[in-house]
Amino acid sequence: MDLCNVQEVRQLLARHGFHFSKARGQNFLVAPWVPREIVRQSGVGPDCGVLEIGPGIGPLTRELAGQAAKVAAVEVDRTLAPVLGETLGEFANVEVLWQDILQVDIPGLVRDRFAGLRPMACANLPYYITTPVVTALLEAGCFSAVTVMVQKEVAQRMAARPGTQAYGAFSLFCQYYAQPKLLFDVPPDCFLPRPKVTSAVVQLSVRSGPPCPVADEALFFRVVRAAFGQRRKQLQNALSAGFPRLGKENLSRLLTACGVSPAARGETLDIAAFARIANALAEQEDG
Ligand code: SAM
Repeated sequence: MDLCNVQEVRQLLARHGFHFSKARGQNFLVAPWVPREIVRQSGVGPDCGVLEIGPGIGPLTRELAGQAAKVAAVEVDRTLAPVLGETLGEFANVEVLWQDILQVDIPGLVRDRFAGLRPMACANLPYYITTPVVTALLEAGCFSAVTVMVQKEVAQRMAARPGTQAYGAFSLFCQYYAQPKLLFDVPPDCFLPRPKVTSAVVQLSVRSGPPCPVADEALFFRVVRAAFGQRRKQLQNALSAGFPRLGKENLSRLLTACGVSPAARGETLDIAAFARIANALAEQEDG
């Protein structure tokens, strides 16, 4: 069956009495070049175990199954069970797990399902949970790459450089754990039903360690959140709102000692500058 032929897909779904759920972000791919290109550019190969989030009716799952040793596909909507039974039946290397991805112990799943394989994550994500899913995939610390289709603006935020409008706390989070690369755009007419927004595929090549020394990760991300919590404010003001006990003058001295102007805005700082500030704060709290 051609899962990217709109007429065949409509017949398949009607046969199983399936109704699209907007709340679950169900926009299924119906342009064959998209899943093919995602898998081709993802680097998935025969040594890989791939975690897919939200197989839907399985167009990406089938492409992945054709390249990887194993695919574990986590799907929350059990009404898709008879559909996936029909579309994935021929693939012995695919396992569908009927769960909410946000409730899954991802490192445990990878340990249990992908022993001896190179773990990768690949998905056309349900957009309403993009941030928590990408966060969980990166924090899991077990994938060599995470390739996801997301809303184009979100992909741009992940890969944004300092000094640009798209640059923010999520850019720093993604770039702390990985090196994001925008792969290609996907227009709304590639989906059934059509979403209102353009999508984009982004690849996060996961780093083997942090890009610069960070003494206390939690403190590093607290500094980042404080800086972007009030992104139009000067850094010394934004940080003193996030760290009220430290005092503005003390913060101003600390920033200067880190080579950062207290009047700068957080959006102009790169990861290394945030790391210097967080490390100086950690040292002060220790002393
Ligand atoms: N991979 C398919 C494709 O490309 O056509 C479907 C992608 S569709 C954008 C998102 C899929 O994620 C849907 O099948 C939806 O039911 C599923 N989904 C939504 N929320 C989920 C969750 N919390 N956990 C797992 N799957 C979820």
